[in-house]
Amino acid sequence: MAVLPIHVLGASVLRQETTPVTKVTPELLKLADDMFDTMHAASGVGLAAPQVGRTERLAVVEVEGERHVLFNPEIVLEEGSIKWEEGCLSIPEIYGDVTRAARVIVRATGRDGKLFDVEGRDLLGVCLQHEIDHLHGKLFIDHLSFLKKRKAMALWEDEKDKYPDLLRILTPDSVNEQGDESERL
Ligand code: ZN
Repeated sequence: MAVLPIHVLGASVLRQETTPVTKVTPELLKLADDMFDTMHAASGVGLAAPQVGRTERLAVVEVEGERHVLFNPEIVLEEGSIKWEEGCLSIPEIYGDVTRAARVIVRATGRDGKLFDVEGRDLLGVCLQHEIDHLHGKLFIDHLSFLKKRKAMALWEDEKDKYPDLLRILTPDSVNEQGDESERL
């Protein structure tokens, strides 16, 4: 179990396409455990492998005590639309309203190597879509209008100086500085 550094906006790994996982190995299960530790240290509800500098197609989510390890997750059904204020563990302090599907069904391979479906609405639905975006090099700011994205990027210009080498190193103290965890994806 380990808390890993989180790569922040500007790191090239966040913009890379991930590689599908062909076999769930003990090493990948350890990575998933470390991602949960990292997500908890940052008071987050979801984390994707590129955020910890990895290129495997893997994300973890935990909403209202419901934990999922998702290898190769894909949206197989989406319906409706919902607007949600999102943030991202890789873009601290920047938030924006994103319109996404109101309900999704995601198919993924789980810890046991078997396919499963998870249905998500509200925060879980938003979180699943946000993490799947990460696995394809996409960030929530890409969903903002041109002007809102420009404003977010201007704010980030000031924020990013806090992260030498574009790495966010989490300490036990950093948890206390966090506020509402519901927007941290
Ligand atoms: Zn994110």
